[in-house]
Amino acid sequence: RRTPLIAGNWKMNFDHLQAIAFVQKLAWTLKDAQHDYDDVEVAVFPPFTDLRSVQTLVQADKLQLKYGGQDVSTHAAGAYTGEISAGFLKKLDCDYVIVGHSERRYRHVESDETIAAKAKAAKETGLVPLICVGETAKDLERHEPSAVPANQLRGALIDFKPGDEFVVAYEPVWAIGAGAAATAEQAQNVASVLRDVVRQVVGDETAATTRILYGGSVKSDNIVGFMKCPDVDGVLVGGASLDVDEFAAIVRYKK
Ligand code: 13P
Repeated sequence: RRTPLIAGNWKMNFDHLQAIAFVQKLAWTLKDAQHDYDDVEVAVFPPFTDLRSVQTLVQADKLQLKYGGQDVSTHAAGAYTGEISAGFLKKLDCDYVIVGHSERRYRHVESDETIAAKAKAAKETGLVPLICVGETAKDLERHEPSAVPANQLRGALIDFKPGDEFVVAYEPVWAIGAGAAATAEQAQNVASVLRDVVRQVVGDETAATTRILYGGSVKSDNIVGFMKCPDVDGVLVGGASLDVDEFAAIVRYKK
């Protein structure tokens, strides 16, 4: 019913030449193997400067690989030095764009309002926003684990209506790059609250079809536990998505 999504967020890693080498090797690795990932969607989120190269490879070799940007401007065009619009990403045939990653929320001080505007700009341009939410270790001292992510999601979905497509990524900030992931039980508990938020804010049907991913120190040796959770429909992988063999093993988690 919900196709699992295995997504790799490269963050600020790989220039365009390294991106070409990576995508070619990934395609070869997945094709060469006795694969059983046909019913899994795979996506990568390279730096902006790599997207044109990734597009060329995906289209030339007809790869079953989706891709998107790691961030997007709230604006369509104009005097916004350094920003990239949703329209530019759409022109490169991106399917997705990440909005509200914790590294943007905290390092670039992005508010819930900004993230809502980015998600809106993405969906109005025909991109599927991948909306990231997650609590810090400090949040956990004062709130229930799901409280902060649920609030962030409510804020991001203000302009969403039944039928709008988006993906949610639950990424506890304390598990990102930490080496130690949340437990599958922790991920499931928050994911089920987030699905309730989608139900309340957008509606039942959207809640049933929206994919909720877990992110934070996902590796080939812990993915199976997350994928068994009824409300976890995939993963957003950082560090482990930069190693072709490791990322391919995550994609082929059913093996
Ligand atoms: P790690 O997989 O390196 O913990 O990063 C997770 C993440 O932030 C993906 O967006």
